[in-house]
Amino acid sequence: VKPNLLGQTEDQLRQWLSVHKKPGFAAQQIIDWLYVKGCRSFEEMSNLSKALRSELAAQFTIDLPSLALSQTSRDGTVKFLCEFGDGKQVESVLLTHEDHHTLCVSTQVGCAMGCKFCRTATMGLVRHLDASEIVGQVLLAQQILGPDKRLRNLVFMGMGEPFHNYDNLIRSLEILLNPKGLDYSWRRITVSTSGLTEAIVRFWEETSVKAMLAISLNGVTQEARQLLMPVTKKNHLEDLIETCRQLPLEKRQRITFEYILLADVTDDAKSAKQLVALLNGIKAKVNLIPFNPDPALPFKAPSAEKVREFQNILTGRGLLATVRKSRGQDVGAACGQLASENQTVTSN
Ligand code: SF4
Repeated sequence: VKPNLLGQTEDQLRQWLSVHKKPGFAAQQIIDWLYVKGCRSFEEMSNLSKALRSELAAQFTIDLPSLALSQTSRDGTVKFLCEFGDGKQVESVLLTHEDHHTLCVSTQVGCAMGCKFCRTATMGLVRHLDASEIVGQVLLAQQILGPDKRLRNLVFMGMGEPFHNYDNLIRSLEILLNPKGLDYSWRRITVSTSGLTEAIVRFWEETSVKAMLAISLNGVTQEARQLLMPVTKKNHLEDLIETCRQLPLEKRQRITFEYILLADVTDDAKSAKQLVALLNGIKAKVNLIPFNPDPALPFKAPSAEKVREFQNILTGRGLLATVRKSRGQDVGAACGQLASENQTVTSN
């Protein structure tokens, strides 16, 4: 199978050009054609030599994932199925708030992390997405939005644990952040992790990419978190929090901690107070996520009153806390509801 040109970073393109004795500046021209002009055929790349065009065509494809299904919810949320060359699919969710458009990006088909409150977890890990498939979701979403609207915000919170697919995550971020190409701002890209401590440190040391960080926390003690998130066994809560505390954040940068509110499991006042104590000394903000009921999962949604009470405890103690409005619920596009019904379900 030929590699997809859309998944090549600028460095990879330069290397390829140098091996093929072609001028390095062509990398920039290719990036311009692909991401600025939106060109999808080698023939159209008219400022490249004919020889280069035919060599590229012999070695690469330019493939976007195809749009297998798209549903628009009453609140304007678009859920769509991206299908890749091998027929595997991921769900992507496009949220619109006034003129801000945010895409929830997937990094894997399924997920191996096994979080108990998550629909995707029930699929197990089917496979990693490569960089072209990650970037492809963004390009497809932009196509759905049309030329007059610009997709600017990306949250890596779809299917999969981004840091479990580390190299492809980094490559896709390099492509998305390239100022000569798609030119996303790192402050508008959030990578959300279930808390793989080593990978967080490694990510922070990367020189080629940056992004905002979100930690899916969901438990305030080692025991409580471990019950919901098996990943906690190897990535102890204490180490995770200490790692976050040590990260050299930029000015105005905060780490987002996502906390799912499950009725009678995580929504009590004691947990709220413990959460404040746990995050003490970290430049943090908390995003509370009221659970969306799902027949496949053994949890209940919290009452509106409990949600308000939990939030008030945090904000009353000086911790910035927002409640995620559940959107797109009628099409199954809310957080933790991503699991493709068309997919063969495998187990971990
Ligand atoms: S919440 Fe995220 S990390 Fe956990 S199983 Fe679901 S997709 Fe994977």
